[in-house]
Amino acid sequence: MAATYDRAVPIARCPRCRAEDISADAHPTRLLQNGQTMPVFVCRNCFRPAELEFQIACEANQIPYRPLAIRESLRLLRDFYRDRGAASPNDPQIADALADIERRLSIEPVKRAPKLDG
Ligand SMILES: [Zn+2]
Repeated sequence: MAATYDRAVPIARCPRCRAEDISADAHPTRLLQNGQTMPVFVCRNCFRPAELEFQIACEANQIPYRPLAIRESLRLLRDFYRDRGAASPNDPQIADALADIERRLSIEPVKRAPKLDG
């Protein structure tokens, strides 16, 4: 496949290392800015250090830290990939990533399973 340079295709770079393209492989974490928690997407390599930095920032600001819930992560990722997909509609990797997240959202339990006692 010939390499083409298409300026119309935006590349989503990891905001932490500014190197990795996270268009189809993003990891949601949080950033503390002016006392506000902001969702942010980083690359695979940056995820653990970014989460640790967030935890340390919370402790320094006396804000209770809690890990991001799985469904919350999946919802953030779904919105992220939808935006990426809208920006790059012909990128099969983004379409695959979105399909994977939607599949996981559909099977992840919303609440406790109904009780089947009897
Ligand atoms: Zn990174």
